[in-house]
Amino acid sequence: MSSEKSSEKPCRACMDFRTWAKRQKEVYNSEKGLQKKQDQAPITRNSGTQECPLDKDELGSKTWAFLHTMAAYYPNNPSQQQKADMNSFFHTFSRFYPCNACAEDMQEQLRHSPPETSSQEKLTQWLCRIHNEVNKKLGKPEFDCKLVNQRWRDGWQDGSCD
Ligand SMILES: Cc1cc2nc3c(=O)[nH]c(=O)nc-3n(C[C@H](O)[C@H](O)[C@H](O)COP(=O)(O)OP(=O)(O)OC[C@H]3O[C@@H](n4cnc5c(N)ncnc54)[C@H](O)[C@@H]3O)c2cc1C
Repeated sequence: MSSEKSSEKPCRACMDFRTWAKRQKEVYNSEKGLQKKQDQAPITRNSGTQECPLDKDELGSKTWAFLHTMAAYYPNNPSQQQKADMNSFFHTFSRFYPCNACAEDMQEQLRHSPPETSSQEKLTQWLCRIHNEVNKKLGKPEFDCKLVNQRWRDGWQDGSCD
């Protein structure tokens, strides 16, 4: 998944926190020549109150929140410039997303399924399908794309977000 060498500082945004912490320890121990059994110390998660760099999953869920919210507020009748800008945004985004494997995957998805920017409806549904492709790959449940405006713009019909 990652092309990093084991002696390099692990990319926190490219892996879940436990894997990152384990890799971090391996690098540290190999640098310091410590014995492997010291690797066995329990790995504790950051407290939610600390402001720490994001791991892959934190970065992922915050990024999806931003992307879906941006799509939810996209115009119903965008101008040619807005369509071009949105298309360009997703291609640029996919080249700079800090999780390399995720970014490469996104670039591949964009080749097969370019952004549909002709309206809010088209863009939100396209993004929902893209996210569902990632969900499928990760074994997560697929999201019902009919509910995307409730989830990201209007709040649930039962009023629980009001
Ligand atoms: C562009 C991108 C590519 C990624 N690629 C990878 C990868 O290749 N490998 C990897 O391990 N991780 C990848 N991730 C991270 C991964 O998708 C998750 O963000 C991460 O695993 C955390 O998942 P989560 O359970 O918090 O929910 P997330 O998948 O982050 O979803 C957040 C919330 O979005 C809503 N939601 C879920 N699905 C949809 C949908 N289809 N449409 C609209 N709303 C939805 C739900 O309410 C959910 O709680 C990627 C993230 C991004 C942004």
